[in-house]
Amino acid sequence: MDLNNIQHLIRITQTSIIENGFLGWCAVGSDGVRITMESALTARDRVGVQDFVLLENFTSEAAFIENLRKRFKENLIYTYIGSVLVSVNPYKDLEIYTKNHMERYRGVNFYEVSPHIYAVADNSYRSMRTERRDQCILISGESGAGKTEASKKILQYYAITCPASDQVQTVKDRLLQSNPVLEAFGNAKTLRNDNSSRFGKYMDIQFDFKGAPVGGHILNYLLEKSRVVHQNHGERNFHIFYQLIEGGEEDLLRRLGLEKNPQQYQYLVKGNCPKVSSINDRSDWKVVRKALTVIGFNDDEVEELLNIIASVLHLGNIQFGGEDSGIAYITTDTQIKYLSRLLGVDGLVLKEALTHKKIIAKGEELISPLNLEQAASARDALSKAVYGRTFTWLVNKINDSLAFKDESYKNPSVIGLLDIYGFEVFQHNSFEQFCINYCNEKLQQLFIELTLKSEQDEYEAEGITWEPVQYFNNKIICDLVEEKFKGIISILDEECLRPGDASDITFLEKLEDTVGGHAHLTTHKLADGKTRKVMGREEFRLLHYAGEVNYNVNGFLDKNNDLLFRNLKEVMCMSENTILTQCFDRVELKDNKRPETAATQFKNSLAKLMEILMSKEPSYVRCIKPNDAKQAGRFDEVLIRHQVKYLGLMENLRVRRAGFAYRRRYEIFLQRYKSLCPETWPTWEGKQVDGVSTLVKHLGYKPEEYKLGRSKIFIRFPKTLFATEDALET
Ligand code: ATP
Ligand code: MG
Repeated sequence: MDLNNIQHLIRITQTSIIENGFLGWCAVGSDGVRITMESALTARDRVGVQDFVLLENFTSEAAFIENLRKRFKENLIYTYIGSVLVSVNPYKDLEIYTKNHMERYRGVNFYEVSPHIYAVADNSYRSMRTERRDQCILISGESGAGKTEASKKILQYYAITCPASDQVQTVKDRLLQSNPVLEAFGNAKTLRNDNSSRFGKYMDIQFDFKGAPVGGHILNYLLEKSRVVHQNHGERNFHIFYQLIEGGEEDLLRRLGLEKNPQQYQYLVKGNCPKVSSINDRSDWKVVRKALTVIGFNDDEVEELLNIIASVLHLGNIQFGGEDSGIAYITTDTQIKYLSRLLGVDGLVLKEALTHKKIIAKGEELISPLNLEQAASARDALSKAVYGRTFTWLVNKINDSLAFKDESYKNPSVIGLLDIYGFEVFQHNSFEQFCINYCNEKLQQLFIELTLKSEQDEYEAEGITWEPVQYFNNKIICDLVEEKFKGIISILDEECLRPGDASDITFLEKLEDTVGGHAHLTTHKLADGKTRKVMGREEFRLLHYAGEVNYNVNGFLDKNNDLLFRNLKEVMCMSENTILTQCFDRVELKDNKRPETAATQFKNSLAKLMEILMSKEPSYVRCIKPNDAKQAGRFDEVLIRHQVKYLGLMENLRVRRAGFAYRRRYEIFLQRYKSLCPETWPTWEGKQVDGVSTLVKHLGYKPEEYKLGRSKIFIRFPKTLFATEDALET
């Protein structure tokens, strides 16, 4: 038996066992060679089960992980929990994403083929088409687990398999090309992932009545702007900076005043990591440059965009003198010259704005000089604002290009793809981790609600009594973060708005006063002896659904305020760069109202996201990272166990198994097993449900082993079905 045959066998074995228990099917391999039942079962032992609901010992975490491990060893990176796809990052290219594979999954029932990201994509697509219901695919997992790769595979699947016309082809190309552009500007090398997304992304793909993709729309969430001005050791700034420097043509770099060496730029040296072996900045530059054209950027727009990117680097190289006097002045005039030329701003005005602060108090303008530290932080705030707003502009521009333009067709069907940062715990956790982990709490809540709800709905629809499962409802943590008046975000906002002595520490004290008694929050002061030992004085600890995280409050107020001095905004509004004038609107200057804080904006955008997701039928992809070394073939059990826990996979499985491991439509069940009972063989003339009832009674099913619903039989344990399968063979 050759290897292909074994693999085919395994596929059929797995498939059959899962959906129908048709072990008999595996008697013939792909080349038509008969395979004994024994070898089929051995194959099953070797590669594990393709759906965790089939695990006999389904409450055992060890059995769960063992099954993952077996499959991972055989390069079977996908496994189901019911309809949820669990994916383990292989860290190597597997030959499973070819056009042939796509064809294999196209239009085929979920369980008839082995688990695959294409099966999820196809299933959502078919549900959208047949039920006319909008879909969404939620991809989660920690940094480096493979979320972005999964979302790209889904997009490629639709681009290749969906019907196309010339116009549709343009949309498909643009959808695909939006990825390299967004990754160039929004991804960076971190310690966890060489291509880590530093923003959250929700993308709608819109389909017309023929099922062709005709448009798209992207929502972006909370770009990690602080990376523009600072990177930890071993990390990099956003890819685009290195791509431009390494790949940009000589005359382009000359025009931008850039040198061909990233080490020349303060904003690129902090992580001491200009080159990454897995990244080719030069060829990536070509890809991005081409993608910009496909998306519809004209040469002027590209020029203006690159002027901004180069300007951020020049801003980073601006230095200040004035230690003695305490008043900062700029010592690097060359940078000002470049900035003035690239952004079309007056150099003197820019210099003044970088070293003075202007505020309006009671209708009067007050200008005061900045000291060295303040000037450096004003410069960095400007860089972050310019980069962050340009990123948003870029997303808007991509959205314009993807916009569904057929006025006559009002309601395209939609499949949404969510690729958003997973739960993060570092040695040092700050405001960004707080927001990211809060986002994960919200998604977890949605997951619990929707998986439980859909199970419940199915039992209800079939008229079967629901047996509730105990699970931890993390609403209590969401409330702790987002509740009006006494939630953490409210308390933070209050400190941000409070004039006078408000500081990160007073914020921490307010937390202690207001929510100090909460079961999911503690601080150094409130902690018991054991916890206190591992907590800093400037930290608060949240007990997340996924585990404990200590957050250091340093910088919380500044990051939440996200303020840019008025005179710097004015300079940007005066710029001749049309991207910047779209990013910095003069209305902002007139409007003296304080803008919403970063956390509140994030909270509101998440609330909108939840609404969007709730209105669609969800599918889940849960990504797991197998090791921290980004290496193929390494299965780090401790790391994986942790992820299985915080992704709530065991809980998910329990819910799935709480009632019944299998449910099958009567006609399919009867067709398969009717030969086992003289009364149903060769044909059953009566109602299907009565046929099934006669059949299972004949087989000796005990009442607690199954239930009959309106259209399906529900079987509680896998072993019942396996025994029935075995009976077929004898
Ligand atoms: P982050 O949260 O940091 O953005 P992520 O979950 O999006 O992380 P990816 O960027 O998708 O992670 O994956 C990290 C790397 O792992 C990829 O660059 C790729 O090298 C590898 N990888 C992920 N999925 C696959 C796959 N299915 N096949 C081969 N390699 C993969
Ligand atoms: Mg990613």
